[in-house]
Amino acid sequence: MTMSQAAVAAMIERALLRADDSKPSNEAIECFACGRGMTYKGSRFCGKRCSDYYDSGAPGKAQDWRRSKPDYGITGWKVVAGPPGTEIRTDYYKPLRDAFERRKANAAGKATRRGGRNLIPNYTIKANGHGYWQPSATSRALGFASVDCGFDGDEARLKARALNEAASAARRMAVAAENTNREAA
Ligand SMILES: [Zn+2]
Repeated sequence: MTMSQAAVAAMIERALLRADDSKPSNEAIECFACGRGMTYKGSRFCGKRCSDYYDSGAPGKAQDWRRSKPDYGITGWKVVAGPPGTEIRTDYYKPLRDAFERRKANAAGKATRRGGRNLIPNYTIKANGHGYWQPSATSRALGFASVDCGFDGDEARLKARALNEAASAARRMAVAAENTNREAA
């Protein structure tokens, strides 16, 4: 005996209806905003409060991609585990933050170049971010040459100031020596 197609369809339908019966009939759907079980009555929200809440821009219960993520930042994280070679307790994001700081310092250097806030004589900041001490012709005649002071910053500027002092000391000595020679002649 073979079952007719209609009989098979009827069996499937009964099975599906049985599965449906296992669900509490009063919780057919969930409110889109608060997720409470409810009967669908022409709105996907359980009430005006929820629909207003959603309309105000709040995410639906299942819309986790619309929820704001906690902003932990990249400070204070310590490495607790990792593959061999990982240094436990090190500051994982430090290289990243350092690179960011360098970029900020570089941008500040550019601002200095533009704004002319660099008031150290004979000191120029070039496109590579380095500060160069470039002595005057008089200082060059005394043996001074250009010096790459490294990346522009407190250290480089201190070096440039020291070079300026050394150069003026040398000039004073040269003038004194010239005067002594003149007196001797
Ligand atoms: Zn609701």
